[in-house]
Amino acid sequence: MAKKTIRDIELKDKKVLMRVDFNVPIQNGKISDDNRIRAALPTIEYAIEKGGKLILFSHLGRIKTEEDKAKNSLAVVATRLEELLGKKVTFIPETRGEKLEAAINNLKSGEVLMFENTRFEDLEGKKESKNDPELGKYWASLGDVFVNDAFGTAHRAHASNVGISENIEEAVAGFLLEKEINFIGGALENPERPFVAILGGAKVSDKIEVINNLLKIADKVLIGGGMAFTFYKAMGYEIGKSLLEEDKVDLAKQLLKEANGKIVLGSDVVTAKEFNKDAQPFVRKVTEIPSDELGMDIGPESVKEFAEIIKDAKTVVWNGPMGVFEFESFANGTKQVALELTKIKDHATTIIGGGDSAAAVIEFGLEDGFSHISTGGGASLEYLEGKELPGIKAVKDK
Ligand code: ADP
Ligand code: MG
Repeated sequence: MAKKTIRDIELKDKKVLMRVDFNVPIQNGKISDDNRIRAALPTIEYAIEKGGKLILFSHLGRIKTEEDKAKNSLAVVATRLEELLGKKVTFIPETRGEKLEAAINNLKSGEVLMFENTRFEDLEGKKESKNDPELGKYWASLGDVFVNDAFGTAHRAHASNVGISENIEEAVAGFLLEKEINFIGGALENPERPFVAILGGAKVSDKIEVINNLLKIADKVLIGGGMAFTFYKAMGYEIGKSLLEEDKVDLAKQLLKEANGKIVLGSDVVTAKEFNKDAQPFVRKVTEIPSDELGMDIGPESVKEFAEIIKDAKTVVWNGPMGVFEFESFANGTKQVALELTKIKDHATTIIGGGDSAAAVIEFGLEDGFSHISTGGGASLEYLEGKELPGIKAVKDK
């Protein structure tokens, strides 16, 4: 179902409540990476240009004690936003009350206000994170329309996304949220085929729901990473000291049987004698893994086998690295798969969903070679599991 976006509503002279994801890393009081602030600029600038009175808010970190508040104030974020926008941002260090209300009522069209970390409301009774009905209603009462542009929290029903949406006439998606819905939602609902899913990462148990869901939708499911070894075990191979989830072997057997050839596992792996960045790499056929070695990456033959399938794909969703990419000697499988995907970008939709997979691709400097790199770790995982995300559900349908 298509969702309403910021383009579909009138913003002029309206008090525009906008939930952004400004949950940036802060070290010693300084923002160490401002990508999330930069990413929100197009939606913010659009609202300003259209003459809205903009009220921004976000969570930042977790608030469990009074001390957490000092470390997680959005004040530094407001300052950085002001620099990036080249425009005054009025920061109100409150999450409710007269001072905030007065400042909002004094806003003129095209002006920007930001209020304090929504999770300050978690200190007593987790009001934000448990979607306290009074809080969502109160925040909704501060504005005329609501724009949700925070995909990273879309898998949680909080007062600042779902609570507000339910208490206001217009709840629409900003450009960032729209892009996530178009790419991930689009691939899952109506993929151009062949649709190839590439799954990796450490554990089968983390990804069972993703495997189940993508097996239903995709034409091929390529499996690498640590989770592949539970599948190799299920196929009857000896996997040495490789990562194994003993209690998932039967499930892997069942999945292989039901998948009818859809699941593809490579024919070789890169192993080591210990889990160590300086360990010597060995290339081994999956049928010949020595008992004192563990699998660290997919091997060169596996890369070729995967590449052969990738080259004809029209849609690819990738979640989970192919190996221990944090160690240079074992990053090659992940890097080669990333490179194969960059080759098909012109005629295929290529999507990365998964925190570590996204980090790997960015580390390789290949991010421009993809159609979409999701900004949400947990949110993209749940999206790929086929779940309806509460933050998206709460946005009005077109
Ligand atoms: P994502 O965040 O993209 O969803 P995961 O969190 O599931 O990915 O998995 C990422 C982790 O999987 C990485 O830290 C990587 O080192 C680890 N990993 C990949 N292959 C292996 C392997 N063969 N053995 C152990 N760990 C692995
Ligand atoms: Mg991860």
